[in-house]
Amino acid sequence: MISFSSVAEEARIAARALADFGSDLINPTLRIGVTGLSRAGKTVFLTALVHNLIRGGRLPVFEAMAQGRIASARLEPQPDDAVPRFDYEAHLASLLERRVWPQSTRRISELRLVIAYQSARGGARENTLTLDLVDYPGEWLLDLPLLHMSYADWSAETIERSRQPLRAGLAAAWHAHLATLRAYQPASEPNARTAAQFFTAYLRACRDERLAMSLLPPGRFLMPGDLEGSPALTFAPLLPGEGGKRAGSLWAMMERRFEAYKTHVVRPFFREHFARLDRQIVLIDALSAFNSGPQAVKELEASLAAILDCFRVGRSSWMRALFRPRIDRILFAATKADHLHHTSHDRLERILARMVERAIGRATFEGALVDVIALAAVRATREATITRGRDSLPAIIGTPEAGEHAGKQVFDGETETAMFPGDLPEEPDALFDPAAAFRGLAAAPSENADYRFLRFRPPAVRGPGLVPATLPHIRLDRALQFLLGDRLA
Ligand code: GDP
Repeated sequence: MISFSSVAEEARIAARALADFGSDLINPTLRIGVTGLSRAGKTVFLTALVHNLIRGGRLPVFEAMAQGRIASARLEPQPDDAVPRFDYEAHLASLLERRVWPQSTRRISELRLVIAYQSARGGARENTLTLDLVDYPGEWLLDLPLLHMSYADWSAETIERSRQPLRAGLAAAWHAHLATLRAYQPASEPNARTAAQFFTAYLRACRDERLAMSLLPPGRFLMPGDLEGSPALTFAPLLPGEGGKRAGSLWAMMERRFEAYKTHVVRPFFREHFARLDRQIVLIDALSAFNSGPQAVKELEASLAAILDCFRVGRSSWMRALFRPRIDRILFAATKADHLHHTSHDRLERILARMVERAIGRATFEGALVDVIALAAVRATREATITRGRDSLPAIIGTPEAGEHAGKQVFDGETETAMFPGDLPEEPDALFDPAAAFRGLAAAPSENADYRFLRFRPPAVRGPGLVPATLPHIRLDRALQFLLGDRLA
């Protein structure tokens, strides 16, 4: 068991837990974290979840809703004054009115929703459950392991990882610069800044090359929030060398900043946010990883293990005796399932389940209930069958965003297009096999353009009169049932 906190910090966390516990007694409250790496689909998920709850969307598997026990769900002012509010209204307006995807998550934000419901046992009494929904970048979560790493460990591991295939090419410029630096050379701000710039460019390239699922700490280098440019974010790994321990050396400066990052960035996040969550959904853009090939799939699996590791974060034994481990449910959700035909949804779930199972094995994880799901928080496609000669092929239809593909303006952003969705293998391990690589969307009729990362516009949603209907989804109701069904029973 890893301990991320000192005794003083434990005391602060305990005080927080006690306060949360007190208010939970008076006012039953569930704090749900929504995380996932950049572009995994957090903003879209949270917007769709709130919209479907408030507007009573079609959620047959979500029992409280299906049984008509939810009287109302309404937004209320959030409890934490210092945390930005999740901009639900703006995100919803983008989706419904302009049919454009909302602005993605760049920092932590929060939203409070109060659900009035009748319990499944019957009786006329109305109960309330307060949901505090916390949206935060997964990059910040993957920072937690830094808390038990020294600067030397982190440097070694980061440099080692950057030499792996796929990454090495992206790291070339940074490696060349790194080779010019010496641990013992005198510390200087320009040197630190240049090193941090090369290193950040490498991290960004990994992300852009769809190694997005992978391990890229420190998370704030990619998602700086309001810390951009601060010394706590101006460091980089160094190769070990003689004289590094000397005061005033470049190594000593980098080491100090690495420690500052832990103190000023990682610990407060852990204490103020992560340690207070009751449940967690981790969104994963698994299809992007599959599209990128076996190395990205391997990295995805490694990052699932790292994520699980974060959840078995240690509390000292007296803490554990006093407070239940807070996170009691974790849901891993593969997003954007509307890019697949429904025949592949179960396969996607099975593949994710296999990866999580292996990750659980690696992390010797225990405590929380873990489940996996394939979902589309907002379904942008519908299904169709295309006849080709004697064959009937499953296809999906949506409106691709306007844009160039292979140098040609192919989509105008208005016209619906049928595409062939990729076929996921029956056997999850096939994804690790370069020969059997998965290919996502392909055009119908087939062209040579690469449509693997094509985006569809959000669906046109029109209800009776002026009121838009609720956003269509795939399996959002199952996610809701897992995350809060028991608390509404
Ligand atoms: P975040 O960075 O985790 O907040 O990611 P977003 O929620 O902003 O999603 C990133 C992008 O993924 C969006 O702009 C959409 O293009 C796409 N996306 C997210 N969720 C869905 C979904 O349910 N269906 C489809 N088709 N695309 C989605």
